[in-house]
Amino acid sequence: MSIRHHIGDDTLMAYVNGTLVEPLSVVVATHLAICPRCRKSAALMEDLAGLLLMEAETAPLSPAEEAMADIIPSSASPDAGNDDQPLIKPDYSNTGVPMPLAERMPATLDDIPWRTLIPGISHYPLPKSGSQKNKGTLRLLKIAPGKTMPEHSHTGQELTLILRGSYIDDLGRFQTGDIADLDSETLHQPVADTAEDCICLIATDAPLKFSGFFSRLLQPVFGI
Ligand SMILES: [Zn+2]
Repeated sequence: MSIRHHIGDDTLMAYVNGTLVEPLSVVVATHLAICPRCRKSAALMEDLAGLLLMEAETAPLSPAEEAMADIIPSSASPDAGNDDQPLIKPDYSNTGVPMPLAERMPATLDDIPWRTLIPGISHYPLPKSGSQKNKGTLRLLKIAPGKTMPEHSHTGQELTLILRGSYIDDLGRFQTGDIADLDSETLHQPVADTAEDCICLIATDAPLKFSGFFSRLLQPVFGI
């Protein structure tokens, strides 16, 4: 698996700090299970957060610590990560997906009881847990080969992890293991590649905004 699209630094920092809503955290944890580069970035952020916490109680930041803080934003640049680390084999249990997601799955990826949204596009809402049950959405989405998703933007953040297959949009091609970390500024319209179904795990912290014809059709379904 060659992962090209990673978690944004702001998102990863929020995950480390425990401030991401739960559905977004599930997507981040699932990507971390298969991505050595993002695990390394998360570990660095955890170390730095611990260091800053200790220093905050004793003294202001030293120049060396400020220099360390400057390192963090660059960790998502193409050259900053070390992708040579061996991939730790994630625990897939019996569902064909990494463990942080597997425990939410009702069945294997091949046996999901999909619900059709429009021809060629179906979804399956996943259960949320914890004290934030009303915050955000977590769902599986299946796009048939060659099918175009209705163009949409977001009122908040949307994280999409590709579990099987691939799609293309304005940001490039997203393949198995890649994560799309989109904010409210992004308007996009993914098109599934033609080889197989594209199955994604998608979390939002606010409803999606569909534009054009599909808006009236899909908003009641997605706009929880
Ligand atoms: Zn990554």
